[in-house]
Amino acid sequence: MMTANEIRDSYKKYFESKGHAIVPSAPMVVKDDPTLMFTNAGMNQWKDIILGTRDPEPRRRADSQKCLRVSGKHNDLEEVGHDTYHHTMFEMLGNWSFGDYFKEGAIDMAWEYLVDVLKINPADLYVTVFEGDEKEGLVRDDEAAGYWMKHVPADHIINGNKHDNFWEMGDTGPCGPCSEIHLDSRTSEEKARTPGRELVNKDNPQVIEIWNIVFMQYERKADGHLEPLSMNVIDTGMGFERLVRAIQGKNSNYDTDIFQPIIKEICRLSGKEYGKEEETDVAMRVIADHLRAVAFSIADGQLPSNAKAGYVIRRILRRAVRYAYTFLDQKEAFMFKLLPVLIREMGSSYPELPGQRELIGRVIKEEEDSFLRTLDKGISMLTDAVDALKAEGKTVLDGSKAFRLFDTYGFPLDLTELICREAGIEVDENRFNVEMEAQKARARNAAQVENGDWNTVGDFDINEEQKFVGYDFSEYNCHITRYRMVKQKKNTFYELVLDNTPFYGEMGGQVGEQGVLVSESETVAIIDSKRENGQTVHIVKELPKNMEAEFMACVDIDKRDASAANHTATHLLDYALKQVLGDHVEQKGSYVSPDTLRFDFAHFEKVSDEQLREVERIVNSMIREDIHQQEHRDTPIEEAKKLGAIALFGEKYGDKVRVIQFGPSVEFCGGMHATSTGRIGMLKILSEASVAAGIRRIEAATGKNWEERCYVMEDTIKDIKALFNNAKDLHTAIEKFISENADLKKQVESFKAQQVERLKTALVEKGHHATDGTTVINTVISMDAAAAKDLVFKIREAVPEKLICVIGAESQGKPSLNIMLSDDIVATGLNAGKLVREAAKLIQGGGGGQPHFAQAGGKNADGLHEACNKVLELIKQAQ
Ligand SMILES: [Zn+2]
Repeated sequence: MMTANEIRDSYKKYFESKGHAIVPSAPMVVKDDPTLMFTNAGMNQWKDIILGTRDPEPRRRADSQKCLRVSGKHNDLEEVGHDTYHHTMFEMLGNWSFGDYFKEGAIDMAWEYLVDVLKINPADLYVTVFEGDEKEGLVRDDEAAGYWMKHVPADHIINGNKHDNFWEMGDTGPCGPCSEIHLDSRTSEEKARTPGRELVNKDNPQVIEIWNIVFMQYERKADGHLEPLSMNVIDTGMGFERLVRAIQGKNSNYDTDIFQPIIKEICRLSGKEYGKEEETDVAMRVIADHLRAVAFSIADGQLPSNAKAGYVIRRILRRAVRYAYTFLDQKEAFMFKLLPVLIREMGSSYPELPGQRELIGRVIKEEEDSFLRTLDKGISMLTDAVDALKAEGKTVLDGSKAFRLFDTYGFPLDLTELICREAGIEVDENRFNVEMEAQKARARNAAQVENGDWNTVGDFDINEEQKFVGYDFSEYNCHITRYRMVKQKKNTFYELVLDNTPFYGEMGGQVGEQGVLVSESETVAIIDSKRENGQTVHIVKELPKNMEAEFMACVDIDKRDASAANHTATHLLDYALKQVLGDHVEQKGSYVSPDTLRFDFAHFEKVSDEQLREVERIVNSMIREDIHQQEHRDTPIEEAKKLGAIALFGEKYGDKVRVIQFGPSVEFCGGMHATSTGRIGMLKILSEASVAAGIRRIEAATGKNWEERCYVMEDTIKDIKALFNNAKDLHTAIEKFISENADLKKQVESFKAQQVERLKTALVEKGHHATDGTTVINTVISMDAAAAKDLVFKIREAVPEKLICVIGAESQGKPSLNIMLSDDIVATGLNAGKLVREAAKLIQGGGGGQPHFAQAGGKNADGLHEACNKVLELIKQAQ
């Protein structure tokens, strides 16, 4: 039986033998497409070729693409694991032809691969063809059917409708009919009972679609009509997990050797068995599936976080932790221990996994640890709530409480319900759902962006290709080719596409450029620019009055130069960090604007001050050398690697790349750069800190920005010096000041102690000595609360018996009321704590204490006399 790895390899080998370039999977995490967070189909990475904005060479390609889906009919995250064939992450085998072979070649190769290489019995295969659609004016795809006739009998060819057999990229753009290949893997008795053709596309788990071949041959125009596509495209997709299940003759994807090694390791570590109980089986499937999704995302540079793609990854990981916690009894981090098995199984096909073994393990473990702490906190809060309900004799937990647990602590409803059920308590689920809906609505309103339709200008085509000239020019003649309106919250602005543009749109951490569009009659400010489908989109607040005019697009040069210098500085920083810390330092993100730069990189401990200094010295000496930029544009990727450029994990590279070199610093980069390193002026690291497990962040200032900071620092030091009478040696002067201050403090303390001592003697002497021998002290003095406390304790030492002492003290407008009673007085039933609470009302305050001593603070110092008298009055009443 072929293993999963053998099946994947056989696919690549077969298509390589048919002249296809075998390309690496694009990253699963999409970085530069605002409409897509994760690659969800094999064709995502070829969108620009299909749309005609990128060179199609080589025209035959094949790969196995990692994909992630967390929403959709069968990929709702909460469903994954409950059945045996849906996943978050999956692999898609695909072969493409961009204007090379078409229907016949695609059909012949698919057939040959399945029947001759994988040895599938042809009698078990069924194919579908598009039956045509009258409304579209399309006839049946007889051409495809004709080619299929070479391989299968007519009763194995099934007509399919527009819904199943006509593929479209979007509302407009490339589209065409498709053919699916279905595999019937039922037993021969079942096949004899019902012919396979009756079960195609009928949701029978044993008769499944394994391959979809799309014949892109039309282009849908904005008005809905179809035109022939300028270049025919073949786009095929074969779900790897279900193919392996079919070839290995299993009933469940999780029974194939894609998942079994992971599941066996889960069994070994948890001491549980797979296939015994539904609950534990679901948990194991969830963990096995989610481990893949999380590990591959981290390998592609997407760390768990609170926003966007990072949040999706966090949710996936937490779901797995929750299942491990609840059903496999794993109360400590567990998933990271499965990583070695995943790497052993998939590492040879996906080198990004072993390449980042340590980082992935650390990130998963840290996420697990922190979520488990959250779970613990949530459980103890929930236990308190359950105890309180029980004490009140109630049996239903308020749903909004359950929602708060979910919202603040990520504490899932099913776990809340489980814990409550054990205590015989129900959760008001309706209330929970109401709160959940309300929150979703809030989130929707906050994120609302409305995009209008693209409008063409003049006789430009909607797909008009844009020429980016920014590497060579900062001003260029241009026309607006299309525009649309965008509404975000209450703001309205417009996006413009130009035929030629020098503007570098936001990409790869470098912010978008600003500038102006100038025509003979008007000037329009471009407030930002970004990238969409490989093109720069220019953002303006108002549309030009004459859209069809000829414009000059002018980039704000000062900002461009400052950004470019900062971008170059990140390259030098990257180089220097590798020199000082080692080759494991890999860029994990950056942010470059005219004012600032930020650089994130993989490293597992704090970078020491000396190391940071060394990095700065290397960078600054490269800046002083004024190394000139060497740009290698449109360089074949293999040649670029020879230059020493290191490809980053999680980045997508074309066949031709741009390499930016400054002496020994060589990087793949599409960004704007300084013409020479001297333009940076100087680099100073401002901070170094951890942003996530295994990821450090450096923030730095360069050139003018650093110069400004120097002035601020200089002024601060000047001011301080002036405070110290322009002392020559500021350090010694400050030290002297500190020690003098400490001495003075000591003296003040000792004066205070003496004052307390003197007051004690005076008060005891002057106190009222009643006939029964009780000493009663009642006075108001100027003193802070701490000293007053000290004083009353000293008085008690001097008069250990028959003492009633009430002292009102005031310092800087703050009153305190102090009561001290000797133990024999307390024994008569008096309580200083109770007395102070009652009397403190007169100073608008409160306090408390023990039976023998109590203190209260307040706001109204004028009430002190009255308060003291009140205490004595209360005592009299009690006696
Ligand atoms: Zn760069």
